[in-house]
Amino acid sequence: MNKKGILTVISGFSGVGKGTIVKKLLSDYEQYALSISATTRAPRAGEQEGREYFFKTREEFESMISDHAFIEYAQFVNNYYGTPKAYVEEKMAEGKDVILEIEIQGAMKIKAQFPDALTLFIVPPSPDVLKERLTGRGTEPEDVIASRLQRAVEEAKGMDQYEYLVVNDDLDTCVKEVHSIIQSEHFKSSRNIEFRENLAQGMKKFLKGDK
Ligand code: 5GP
Repeated sequence: MNKKGILTVISGFSGVGKGTIVKKLLSDYEQYALSISATTRAPRAGEQEGREYFFKTREEFESMISDHAFIEYAQFVNNYYGTPKAYVEEKMAEGKDVILEIEIQGAMKIKAQFPDALTLFIVPPSPDVLKERLTGRGTEPEDVIASRLQRAVEEAKGMDQYEYLVVNDDLDTCVKEVHSIIQSEHFKSSRNIEFRENLAQGMKKFLKGDK
């Protein structure tokens, strides 16, 4: 059956807990590789170069755009964010399920380039919970929180573009659900065409009465 990696896009509103979900997914299961994006936003307290992001100046980022170093990139609340091409290609070739934790414009660009990509959107149990989480993490000033909430209202219009919605109420449950969606995807008939056809071809010998 299908051993090919699945390019998996995980999106969701700012503050919904995508980062935590993805970190747990990677620590609980071995089959995943997380693409580390480049960004022009400043590091938050505790973030490390090359772990959460590759932090770039606008000039550096724009020169990477000119060098076609990204699979996709987008602007989000006044900063650039992009997915470096080389790592994704390398990990896909190794058969890993590569996770892209990106916003919606980038997700749509990925889907256009890789129609087989799997898209998941993480949602909060309610709007109020989203606001509480975003405010409660205390990593952004009030004006940035307001911009991110506005952006969330815009992004909500695009939720229907995703194949799966997963509610992040309880973290462990959510991570298990995300994992089981990706697992099930490996069994899709359309992802196993070669296996299916070889099996059907091999079975033709029965018609000839071979043993
Ligand atoms: P944050 O500043 O909260 O880390 O990220 C802001 C938004 O940018 C999140 O929705 C995150 O998923 C998205 N993002 C992170 N990396 C990328 C990327 O490489 N490409 C795109 N399009 N969005 C990204």
